[in-house]
Amino acid sequence: MAAAGLSKIKHVRAFTVRGGGADYHDQGEGHWIDNHIATPMARYPEYRQSRQSFGINVLGTLIVEIEAEDGTIGFAVTTGGEPAAFIVEKHLARFLEGRDPREVEKIWDQMYFSTQYYGRKGLVVNAISGVDLALWDLLGKLRGEPVYQMLGGAVRDELQFYATGARPDVAKELGFIGGKLPLHHGPAEGLEGLHKNIAELAEMRSRVGDDFWLMLDCWMSLDLDYATRLAHRAYDECGLKWIEEALSPDDYWAYAALKKNAPKGLLVTTGEHEATRWGFRMLMDMECCDIIQPDVGWCGGVTELIKIANYADSKGVMMIPHGSSVYSYHFVITRHNSPFAEFLMMHPGPTEVVPMFHPQLIGEPVPVNGRLHVSALDKPGFGVELNRELPMHRPYTH
Ligand SMILES: [Mg+2]
Repeated sequence: MAAAGLSKIKHVRAFTVRGGGADYHDQGEGHWIDNHIATPMARYPEYRQSRQSFGINVLGTLIVEIEAEDGTIGFAVTTGGEPAAFIVEKHLARFLEGRDPREVEKIWDQMYFSTQYYGRKGLVVNAISGVDLALWDLLGKLRGEPVYQMLGGAVRDELQFYATGARPDVAKELGFIGGKLPLHHGPAEGLEGLHKNIAELAEMRSRVGDDFWLMLDCWMSLDLDYATRLAHRAYDECGLKWIEEALSPDDYWAYAALKKNAPKGLLVTTGEHEATRWGFRMLMDMECCDIIQPDVGWCGGVTELIKIANYADSKGVMMIPHGSSVYSYHFVITRHNSPFAEFLMMHPGPTEVVPMFHPQLIGEPVPVNGRLHVSALDKPGFGVELNRELPMHRPYTH
């Protein structure tokens, strides 16, 4: 039973919407994010030029809304689209409706273990994450508190960002502390592709100077031998700071070998497509990486990220969440082992700073000169509102 003064949960609803936003791969033609990026599908020439060609944007955005009896609405956006909407409406909603919104632990536990026989990772945990984030948003709005305050408060006055996109040179001018490039050529493009990867990185190094961080995002596209050779050349010739998600997220053994093989001083990072405390425990216990990069909209939500982050802290591993806008900002500002954050450059160029989840959120803060003051997060919940002018679709009801 809800205590006096805090409204119970009345209704959970799931919507889908197309075009950018939380499903940031759902972009138009000519965007840097879909220009010959190295992927595991690039071994097939017909799927090499565009990730949309193999369906990277097939799901679209999921919006979860949780309404309390007093009419207060919490919401969150993530990926997962229509199949996630089915899971939320037909399966997960029952564990929230009629309940006290402060029961975040029990609700998470029931969502996870009721779906474990078909879930555990991927789409199901993606859907659970969306519900969990909407629940934290609702709780913050009911209490009149920002999520970061409910998580223990800020440990710094501001967030510092690196930028992900094809133009680290522009990111440097915009005040970011580093730039992460997508890798363009995978093992199927042979030695010629490897030389091209190094040449692109060297060209960017010459534009940004010696001291600016440069990173490479390999989006699960490499094998151990290729990743090892790329790591050595990129570090020796171009001063690479980290090599990200070089290998299949299922191949913990190859990550452990890559971390051993990589030059001292180069960081190995991964975890964007990992989920739950158990998945991240595997990455950390097997010493797969120096930085874990959970996406709070995919790994299980804030409730699960607390457990992942605490384990990382105890192991001396840095946790720099993947993208995810306000959902990660409210977390990163509360953690010493998250000293900076990622900003995804969603401008097609990308030559200017635009809100990461545009056009789905209203009031989404963006870095100014590569930084964001904690006061930009000082609104209840995650501090944003849903853009209700978008054509939202509710494919299922219950
Ligand atoms: Mg990445």
